[in-house]
Amino acid sequence: NLEVGIVGLPNVGKSTLFNAITKAGAEAANYPFCTIEPNVGVVEVPDNRIQVLTDMYHPKKTIPAVMRFVDIAGLVAGASKGEGLGNKFLSHIRETDAIAEVVRCFEDSNITHVAGSVDPIRDIEIINTELCLADLETTQKRADRIAKVAQCGDKAAKAEYEVLKKVLAALEEGEPARKAGLTEDELPHVKDLNLLTLKPIIYIANVSEDEAGDPDSNPNVKRVEEYAAQEGAQVVAVSAKIESEIAELPDDEASVFLEELGLPESGLDKLIKASYSLLGLINFFTAGADEVRAWTIVKGTKAPKAAGKIHTDIERGFIRAEIVSYEDLIACGSEQAAKEKGLVRLEGKEYVMQDGDVTYFRFNV
Ligand code: GDP
Repeated sequence: NLEVGIVGLPNVGKSTLFNAITKAGAEAANYPFCTIEPNVGVVEVPDNRIQVLTDMYHPKKTIPAVMRFVDIAGLVAGASKGEGLGNKFLSHIRETDAIAEVVRCFEDSNITHVAGSVDPIRDIEIINTELCLADLETTQKRADRIAKVAQCGDKAAKAEYEVLKKVLAALEEGEPARKAGLTEDELPHVKDLNLLTLKPIIYIANVSEDEAGDPDSNPNVKRVEEYAAQEGAQVVAVSAKIESEIAELPDDEASVFLEELGLPESGLDKLIKASYSLLGLINFFTAGADEVRAWTIVKGTKAPKAAGKIHTDIERGFIRAEIVSYEDLIACGSEQAAKEKGLVRLEGKEYVMQDGDVTYFRFNV
């Protein structure tokens, strides 16, 4: 289960957005494997294909893919030195796959801003400084620990040490580790450190209710977009307040509301889609009379590992996958028709799963 950590300064709209996420939440009974804690929201990943497959198979149960959002409270200036919730906060955020940073772009004189005025770039820099400082400490500690061994000529330690030095150089400049220019070969050396500034990041620009239909009209959103562009990060502009109202409505009323605002989808859907693309995620499906289900994998995942998402036994005993692409299946109208046309392929261990593959795994027990 992919997990995105929501961070931001106090009073920027984190709780409002998080409430929208939990209200829109997935039917918990379908996901017994997710323990739901109060600060965790589980939402369905919007994907029209799952409904089309349901109409084709009439299964007893339909289970969409889900994404977890964790509300990580307690980030204030000084968090890396143990201010506020400090360390507890940092240990929560280390476990997430990506960071969504809420920044306040809405003006409202009734709601105080912890730093006195609305300035999203300053807020981003306050937060990013804390994340860099935390990483600096982690990286320095590790470097100190292995320095001696590396100097004595231990090859593995030396290679790691060189990578750590590269990361430290970036962090000391106040730059996130993702800007240290680590190569594919170098990244594994720092994987276990779970560096915060190596995680992919999305900025959530929180605009006011009356800007919800046209968030780009807010000049602060433009500034956040420019800032993010230099970093190669993404921006999703939402109105947390509007999102929490939408989340209370039944689906059909929510669509009408969105239409009135002139929006093609809710901010929450935009956020999930942006997280998907940021993390390089795709869905494959399993479909039958019992269950139609979407599974999340990282692009480039091979068939056995994808099977392991369903059960480790299926990965271990993997024989082959029977696969039809979603498009072919829909064009043929049924699995049987796709089989007759030779569109259900047999794929082996080296097959790289594609988005929309409708899959049946054969395995030895
Ligand atoms: P947090 O401290 O970051 O969790 O912030 P909250 O979600 O508690 O929001 C702080 C205050 O800002 C609350 O009074 C919210 O109602 C208000 N707020 C959040 N989003 C918006 C918004 O889009 N527009 C306006 N006017 N107020 C908002």
